[in-house]
Amino acid sequence: MAKINENYLKLPGSYLFSEIAKRVAAYKEENPEAEVISLGIGDVTRPLPKVCVEAMTQAADEMGNVKTFRGYGPEQGYDFLREVIAEHNYKAKGIDIKAEEIFVSDGSKSDCGNIQEIFSKDSKVALPDPVYPVYLDTNVMAGRTGALMGDGYFEGVEYLSATEKNNFSPDLPSEKMDLIYLCSPNNPTGTALSRAALTKWVEYARENDAVILFDAAYAAYITSDDVPRSVYEIPGAKDVAIEFRSFSKTAGFTGTRCGYAVIPKNLMGTASDGTKVSLAKLWNRRQTTKFNGTAYIVQRAAAAVYTEEGQKQVKENIDYYMENARIIREGLKKTGLKAYGGVDAPYIWVKTAEPSWEFFDKLLTKAQVVGTPGAGFGPCGENYFRLTAFGDRQKTIEAIRRIVYKLH
Ligand code: PLP
Repeated sequence: MAKINENYLKLPGSYLFSEIAKRVAAYKEENPEAEVISLGIGDVTRPLPKVCVEAMTQAADEMGNVKTFRGYGPEQGYDFLREVIAEHNYKAKGIDIKAEEIFVSDGSKSDCGNIQEIFSKDSKVALPDPVYPVYLDTNVMAGRTGALMGDGYFEGVEYLSATEKNNFSPDLPSEKMDLIYLCSPNNPTGTALSRAALTKWVEYARENDAVILFDAAYAAYITSDDVPRSVYEIPGAKDVAIEFRSFSKTAGFTGTRCGYAVIPKNLMGTASDGTKVSLAKLWNRRQTTKFNGTAYIVQRAAAAVYTEEGQKQVKENIDYYMENARIIREGLKKTGLKAYGGVDAPYIWVKTAEPSWEFFDKLLTKAQVVGTPGAGFGPCGENYFRLTAFGDRQKTIEAIRRIVYKLH
């Protein structure tokens, strides 16, 4: 029999969302009349912007015509998309990122999960705690960690604690790290790194020959002047950082699938003999071997986001979610519960007096509202709870009304 990759056995089951579903189902069975509202989903609910649908329809027609049909596209993405991304998200903001440095993909989950493949197995990895679990899990699968310990931490990983104490802005690691994942704005805390904080990380990476893996999936939600939308706003970042962006939360592409990684030409890694190697070249090799490109139809839809009308329509959806975020934040102020985030991200991070699963049960049984226990995002998420602004407006208002009047 073929031997398996035993690193997979180190991972606990993906318990979080199945456990939530189980507890909600049990509650509904006992209380069939209860109208449960979920503020737990991390998925968008607004439909695709019209410009995207039109672009997709037109592209589908092209695919059905022998004269305009397209087969395999470039693995790195079509130039028409790479160019508008470079122009709109970088050049127009004074950042020198070229279309060739952009690698279009089927979304950030793949990119954030796959990027570790181009680095040495003995790389020392640091990641925020709490954070989107993909960074940790993919490094566990690759064998870059030891076992899961009783306290919820994996051996051999540097967890960068983000709590109230440091304003959810992690301190620099005590040891020299090779790979540093940063997620800003952060899922689940809904907080973002300030320019000063990100500058500190870029300087650390430059001094320590480390690479920052910067996940900016929620960049479109940033409203604070002091929060960079791109890591490349920080001087010197092009020598030390890879950036990941996604159309999922920006333009409702969670089910349509499109994202991209930015790997600057001059960003180098080191081979064991000391030779400098271009990380973009390695990633290109990886992608051309394992990935056959994002669908033409989807890339046309993504490019439509950058038209004037596209920008207007995208903003309308983001404004809708951020108004929900405001309603949640303002409502929570009346409860005495401390809440963070929701200004630069569609997530609100609530401090709880009790363990996060106990708070989950309390919220479900007293207010019939569902959220996500913070413990599911890392040990530092214990005693926190995530509410999301991706829901329907009326349901969000009703959920907050119940939290205010029934929880306290
Ligand atoms: N990065 C973060 C921080 C996320 O929260 C998510 C999705 O929830 C992703 C990446 C995945 O994005 P995509 O839909 O582009 O795969």
